[in-house]
Amino acid sequence: MAILKILKYGDEVLRKKSKEVSKISKKIRILIENMIDTMYANNGVGLAAPQVGENLRIFVIDVSMDDEPLNPMVFVNPKIIKKSGAIKSNEGCLSFPKAYVDVRRYKNVMVKALDINGRPFVIEAKDGELLARALQHEYDHLDGILFIDHSRNIFDATQVLEENNLPPLEQDKLVCEDELEEEIVKQEKQDSANNEGK
Ligand code: ZN
Repeated sequence: MAILKILKYGDEVLRKKSKEVSKISKKIRILIENMIDTMYANNGVGLAAPQVGENLRIFVIDVSMDDEPLNPMVFVNPKIIKKSGAIKSNEGCLSFPKAYVDVRRYKNVMVKALDINGRPFVIEAKDGELLARALQHEYDHLDGILFIDHSRNIFDATQVLEENNLPPLEQDKLVCEDELEEEIVKQEKQDSANNEGK
């Protein structure tokens, strides 16, 4: 087992599209085990293969709480087969030390993937729970998309990156999410109206 070096924002490997895994060989299994160890060593919720320099479609996630047993989940060649709703998510990333930014995500997702033994499985995450957001965050890494590309407020995001000595936002990478933003704003208005009623 080994703790791998995590690439930081600015490394071009993070912007490349990753390739499908054709066979879960011994080498791939070792990579997955090392990714799990690296995620835990850095107190991460998830880690994608490009973050450790491998442009392969693999990520690992563990959303268990501190008082719960570890529950590493492995996703090989994942596909998002359903997504709906919208939610605001305050996210960080092991490739962006100490930088947290508000981003837009789908509220519900369904993902199909292979486990470490090559067996297919489907997982559903709902109501904007941590798993739903983590699945989207890690999946994006496989397409060279980073969480800051989903920033709700580019001025805030720019400032956060600057404060943490990270390279600036890449304007041409920003994802257009007008529909998600509309839905989030609608919810926020509703929430504040509900709070005022109390
Ligand atoms: Zn990340």
